[in-house]
Amino acid sequence: MRQRAGMPRHKRKRDTRPSLNYTIRGFRLKHGRLHLAGGVALTVVWSRELPAAPSNVRVYQDALGHWYASFVVAAEAQPLPATGAVLGIDWGVKETATTTSNAHDLPHPEYGRKAAQRLARYQRMMARRKPLKGQVASKGYWEASRQTAKLHKKTARQRQDTARKWAKRVVADHDAIAVEDFKPKFLARSTMARKAADAAIGATKAALNEMARKHGRIVYLVDPKHTTMDCAACGVRTKHRLPLSERTSTCTTCGVASPRDKNSARVMLIRAGLNPAGVEGVRPLGPPAPAAA
Ligand SMILES: [Zn+2]
Repeated sequence: MRQRAGMPRHKRKRDTRPSLNYTIRGFRLKHGRLHLAGGVALTVVWSRELPAAPSNVRVYQDALGHWYASFVVAAEAQPLPATGAVLGIDWGVKETATTTSNAHDLPHPEYGRKAAQRLARYQRMMARRKPLKGQVASKGYWEASRQTAKLHKKTARQRQDTARKWAKRVVADHDAIAVEDFKPKFLARSTMARKAADAAIGATKAALNEMARKHGRIVYLVDPKHTTMDCAACGVRTKHRLPLSERTSTCTTCGVASPRDKNSARVMLIRAGLNPAGVEGVRPLGPPAPAAA
């Protein structure tokens, strides 16, 4: 909630969920129990073992009323051996990631779309049952709102799981990765499929960045402007935008035809200054690029 200067702070109580932060001196872990400043001790159900001593903990409650403790642990870099390979990535709706390697393409997970349909249903239910101003919300409204939160959470978890597994594979197989610098708009008017795709891209890009940082790989963020107008084979930009329905891009200058998204993925590589030679379906062009270290 944004606050104007001089305005009193106004936040409805039922909109807020409790969240408490403790720094190193405010908490202690002893025999698997979390002791907080003020003499509160909690039994923690661990989702995974802590890799090192935590420096912070945030204790919070989610929309479903469950309590969580989230620990901050300094990450240790785990460099991977060099592979000599690079990867270009184009984000999309049908395929979350189209890459310069067929083995690393990531189809859009269907659960996102199905969940989006169910979500729309719950949201309609909530709209119908929305309490009038000054009235207490009905049981049906809260039930729909709880179902919405539950579904959001499940989908987010599935998305993150898919994204992490894919990112791990990408990072293990490539030294440097060039990705479209995608910024989801989350427009209210965009289609359900587009919203689900945007969420999948956002989660996948975040997982890739995190995994690359952890394993000492380089990620280049590439400006996506005109990627469908540039030819990855000869570098010439066409005068007209390729219509979205056109799935194949054929270069009028050099005659090379390739699937539209594959062409864009290769353009990412070139724009990042990476050598696309050796990448599937691309022939080396122009002066030889410096060999990958
Ligand atoms: Zn061309």
